[in-house]
Amino acid sequence: MASLSLVNVCKTYKNGFEAVKDVNLDIRDKEFLILVGPSGCGKSTTLRMIAGLEDISSGQLWIDGQLVNMLEPKNRDLSMVFQNYALYPHMTVYQNMAFGLKVRKTPKEEIDRRVRQAAKILDIAHLLDRKPHALSGGQKQRVAIGSVIVREPKAYLMDEPLSNLDAKLRSQMRVELSKLHRELGATVIYVTHDQVEAMTLGTRIVVMRSGKIQQAAAPGDLYLNPVNKFVAGFIGSPAMNFLPAWVERRDERVCLEFGSSRLYVNRMCASRLIEGGYLGRRVYLGIRPEDFHETGPGENALPLEVEIKEMLGAEQLLYGNCGRNELCVRTKPDFKAEPGSTVTVFVDMDRIKLFDMETEENIS
Ligand code: ATP
Repeated sequence: MASLSLVNVCKTYKNGFEAVKDVNLDIRDKEFLILVGPSGCGKSTTLRMIAGLEDISSGQLWIDGQLVNMLEPKNRDLSMVFQNYALYPHMTVYQNMAFGLKVRKTPKEEIDRRVRQAAKILDIAHLLDRKPHALSGGQKQRVAIGSVIVREPKAYLMDEPLSNLDAKLRSQMRVELSKLHRELGATVIYVTHDQVEAMTLGTRIVVMRSGKIQQAAAPGDLYLNPVNKFVAGFIGSPAMNFLPAWVERRDERVCLEFGSSRLYVNRMCASRLIEGGYLGRRVYLGIRPEDFHETGPGENALPLEVEIKEMLGAEQLLYGNCGRNELCVRTKPDFKAEPGSTVTVFVDMDRIKLFDMETEENIS
């Protein structure tokens, strides 16, 4: 398997649109690297440049120490799984999976070994004699992945391979892909706009916005230490709440004020705010829905006018208002909160995030 390096990589399309701006990224051997971000942020363009399907406008792409900018896609030794996978309808599953190897004139016994091994890993060994029309969507997708993994390329590139599947199949396939990654010990670069997919599959996640990398980190780090408001709002579901708040000093302590509410920050956060010169200024207070409690000290309390309650079985989501701010709060399912009523929720002040109003950088 391989390591890849993108150095100052840019892509400007013919119409002058800059889709990727100065991307620097080292992808390590055996890494499951996720490129994630909203629609149009340049994920697919980045992947397609790695695959060689799109020219690199400036910058360098290195694979295993070799500069490959000018190398034809077929000579890069990478395999790509697309969103719209295509199987040959007149061929059996076995023939579909064997096709790429046959074209490369791989010996028959070797083809057989690899197809059967891939089929076993993907749990489609019992389907090898079927034709695609006799397969479910999820089975077809596995065959498509199978026809890619029979090759032993330097890295696998995947562009939203699960996006055509229903929710249940997607979550099954997520588990399959994780297992596959473990069993193959492969380097995978995977594009998705789905942050749940990113969090569950990735050993490292690269969050992109408008052609630029915002942050590249392990899933847990992204969630706990987002570099800015964009990453904080993108990672986590439902998304983090953001409330504009004034930083004030009251009773010898530092607090955040918005509407008629006041929350005192902990000592570490207080010294950061003072050192950063934020006293008397406005910041964004970020609170994740799961960082509210049902009980707590009175000074951490907020009133929530409940508008909508979503019962999800193991938990409950409350959507409502706190003064003029909209809030989403995650509670246990038995927490009593009826739409139209006002309930008290308590903020875990050790888990809040604060962001600069102008730069939107994390200052907490
Ligand atoms: P999505 O999740 O919607 O697939 P993405 O992050 O993968 O989005 P890209 O497909 O990389 O986004 O596109 C990045 C930007 O480049 C978009 O604004 C897109 O409109 C633009 N773009 C893509 N292909 C071309 C092209 N051939 N010519 C001009 N602009 C393009």
